[in-house]
Amino acid sequence: MQSNPDSMVTSALHDAHLRAALGISSDGMVCLDRSGGAVAWNKAATRLLAPAVDLVAGSHLAEAFVEVSVFEDLRARCMVGETVLAQRLDVSGNDGRRGPVLLTLVPLGDPGTTVLGCTVAIRDISEQTTGQEALAEGEARIRRAEALARTGTFVVNAADGSAQWSEGMYAIHGVDPATFIPSIKTHVALAGEADRAVLENLLARTLGGETLPAIDHRVAHADGTRSWVSIAVEPRRDIAGRVLGLSGVCQDVSARIESEAAVQQALERERQVTHELRQLDALKDEFLATASHELRTPLTSIMGFAALLSTTDERAELVEPIERNAREMHRLIEALLDQARLQSGERTMIPSRFALAPAIATLLTEHSELIDGRDVVLDIAEDAEIEMDREAFEIVLGNLVGNALKYSHNGSVTITAEVGDNDISVAVRDEGPGIAPSHLEHVFEPFYRAPGAALDAPGSGLGLAIVRRYVEKHGGTVICNSRVGAGTTFTLTVPWQSEDPKGS
Ligand code: ADP
Repeated sequence: MQSNPDSMVTSALHDAHLRAALGISSDGMVCLDRSGGAVAWNKAATRLLAPAVDLVAGSHLAEAFVEVSVFEDLRARCMVGETVLAQRLDVSGNDGRRGPVLLTLVPLGDPGTTVLGCTVAIRDISEQTTGQEALAEGEARIRRAEALARTGTFVVNAADGSAQWSEGMYAIHGVDPATFIPSIKTHVALAGEADRAVLENLLARTLGGETLPAIDHRVAHADGTRSWVSIAVEPRRDIAGRVLGLSGVCQDVSARIESEAAVQQALERERQVTHELRQLDALKDEFLATASHELRTPLTSIMGFAALLSTTDERAELVEPIERNAREMHRLIEALLDQARLQSGERTMIPSRFALAPAIATLLTEHSELIDGRDVVLDIAEDAEIEMDREAFEIVLGNLVGNALKYSHNGSVTITAEVGDNDISVAVRDEGPGIAPSHLEHVFEPFYRAPGAALDAPGSGLGLAIVRRYVEKHGGTVICNSRVGAGTTFTLTVPWQSEDPKGS
């Protein structure tokens, strides 16, 4: 019989096509005979099965798989005419690793007659499996992170208000994923009653396409407890910009809100206490000012009459302590009034520039009873000037020189000055008992008197507090350096109030 040349070409093409297809396929293809021995195979099959078997004619494929008997069962099913689809088996590798593959077995032979063998298609799914494992691991990691940070994520479908929640969402809202069906409605119902409208409004407006700031709301749990959740949402859109729904993040912020509330309460308490203390302080200042003022008038008259008595009466000796004590009391009252005036801000400074040495000399003559024959050295350049409120200057220097004389029973008192470009410093140095370091930092506090021998001297503990207030009112500072047994130096520094230090 003459063969048809066209059909010969077609058949040759067909064979070539099959060979080419098999050659380039990444799936392995093995043809097995009735006894399961390999008859033909492609390159991909050799590569895929290589860790387990070297494919040669008659090789038994079952040995390539970890599950030998499972493969034999599949082949048996195929040999009775069944096409076995997509069965997962593992190719055993000699390094102990398993390569997952999908097997499809197709029976070979004329349909309805004896099966002559089968074709086994082997698909490598190791990459796919690794991808799925990585995905599962990533999801587990997100779940762990959500649990740790007490957060959850969710999406809402605009069409029907249905929602999908991550595990964290169920946890922070205290609902069971097995029974709770998430949707806008059920979500809003979980909020504390007072917050429902705000939450509903946030979700509705976001579904309307708005981007709004996050809000905090309460969650009412079934067991009666409450927690705080912060929720941030944004619209989800398709590429045309139409809103498909929204996506959101929730976080349990109960700990933050509770600690903020505690801080707020503590602040409120502190404000209350400060207010009460201020009121008490103002009351005390007012009392001091009134009492001192009321004491001044009778005392002035006591001092006046005592002075008269001491010159006219032969019992002058008896009158002297009255006069001395009255003077001391007068100083105390003046100091109290000064303190009260400074405290209330009533006393404003009017600085003027004057020569320093003559001003101190005048002060010393006015307080001659303090000097009482002691050696006071003025080591100040003749042209040195100072710029201060004159009365404040006299109170400041009077206190410092007075203390130096009062607390050092002997030795000299030296007053020096150093004129700088920006300021002037005046130092009052004595050779008295000194002040212990532990007391030094307190001597400027009102009513503080360092314990020890110095307490024998009269005083109220107000002088240095007043000195500091006056100096500070000029924008200056006053410091104390002292060594026990060696003496004390108080140094005040006041800046030039006007631009030109020379005052010209
Ligand atoms: P007062 O002299 O009325 O006690 P001050 O405020 O002037 O009050 O001084 C406070 C305290 O500082 C004094 O009680 C004293 O202990 C100590 N002090 C002040 N000046 C000297 C000084 N020059 N030498 C030693 N101690 C001093």
